[in-house]
Amino acid sequence: MEISFHGADRDVTGSCHLLECANKRLLIDCGMFQGARELEAENAAPLGFDAAKVDFLLLTHAHLDHCGRLPLLIKRGFGGEIVTTAATRELASIVLKDSAHMAEDDAAWQQRHAHGEPAPAPLYTQSDVEITLARFGRVAQYCVAIDLAPDVRVTFFDAGHILGSAHVLVEVSENGSQRRVLFSGDIGGAGRPIIRDPDPPQASIVLMETTYGDRCHRSTAESVAELVGVIKTTISRGGNVVIPSFALERTQEILYALRAAVTSGALPAQLPVFVDSPMAVAAIAVYRAHPECFDAEAAQLVASHQDLFGTPGLRLVRSTAESMEINRVSGGAVIMAGSGMCTGGRVRHHLVRNLPRESASVVFVGFASRGTPARRIIDGARSINLLGREVPVRAEIHTINGFSAHADQAELLRWHARVGGAERTILIHGEHETMKTFAALLPGVPVSMPSPGERLSL
Ligand SMILES: [Zn+2]
Ligand SMILES: [Zn+2]
Repeated sequence: MEISFHGADRDVTGSCHLLECANKRLLIDCGMFQGARELEAENAAPLGFDAAKVDFLLLTHAHLDHCGRLPLLIKRGFGGEIVTTAATRELASIVLKDSAHMAEDDAAWQQRHAHGEPAPAPLYTQSDVEITLARFGRVAQYCVAIDLAPDVRVTFFDAGHILGSAHVLVEVSENGSQRRVLFSGDIGGAGRPIIRDPDPPQASIVLMETTYGDRCHRSTAESVAELVGVIKTTISRGGNVVIPSFALERTQEILYALRAAVTSGALPAQLPVFVDSPMAVAAIAVYRAHPECFDAEAAQLVASHQDLFGTPGLRLVRSTAESMEINRVSGGAVIMAGSGMCTGGRVRHHLVRNLPRESASVVFVGFASRGTPARRIIDGARSINLLGREVPVRAEIHTINGFSAHADQAELLRWHARVGGAERTILIHGEHETMKTFAALLPGVPVSMPSPGERLSL
């Protein structure tokens, strides 16, 4: 059995791992490299293996850093079956279409500014995405094994990270012995809203993500309380609350928290809440369609016919015209829009309007890479360049970190203790320094931290 490493090795984006066993080649995820700038060269580079020889693609979840290079894999000859959960299939469709749309927009912009020189083609297009979606085959249900070949079976287990996310267990019979290899995908923290906690099986060989292997974060409950506090104070002084937010999971979680706060009377029933993101709105529909992924609390709400994401003042905004109407709201509203790091998307318009207002608040609820507008605002910039103009920062700035969709150090340790990983624990999806800190907490466990392109024989 061999495993080779083609993305998210000593790094957090571009997840892509190839398992060769029992004469089959299984690829686990094929994600996009992401950063402050678009890492076009890295994404367009050779995959590091022959795509045509891969038999199956097992997709852990729909985040772009796990599914974003799927259309490229197919363009380069992958002819096999894509296996994932029903919710991941639908969310991946939204994510990939958005990604193609952005690539096409970018290419068109470069074409306009190329002054007659040939401009680079987009990484992939909508039609490449359509071809990719047609390659999704069997649907995985949690805890139900799927036979890929006589000697290879896989089982998806709830990873508690985003809707439909999974740990993938591969069981292989090779030379008369049985082996269990577990790919963690991204691991959620315990007690997250809407979805269930991670439910990993035991395995002797474990590949695990280590994004937050060096730190602990605050609980979701504390973070919700903090957010509600900021909203109360801001609307009482007549300002808007702008939340730059990732379309997947974060937006739905915050709506879920706002619904609870409105129901309990902590926030006014008619509080105007705008979700100004067609992608987030589409993702809400997928959430509503998959109650089989909900935890007991969310399932209970559905059973009593309550809308998980609905408050009386909620407006889901799709069109640009509707989006521009929000400009007229000078105070008293919550406005959620992407992108989370403010590198693009409609949130930039809301920031241009609200950053100069002392009455307003801007609340960051996710990770912000160095060099992004979000990071500069968080780091205390007095003014910021957005949409070609210099915007003064007078609004109150908050960062609330407990909404993270990733397990923190303590949760990763508990996860590892549950799965075992006694034969080999392979750390992936983390910065190298973070991995070293985490590895030091696993005494007696044989740990590897492979670098990109490395091959391990097991
Ligand atoms: Zn993820
Ligand atoms: Zn990830």
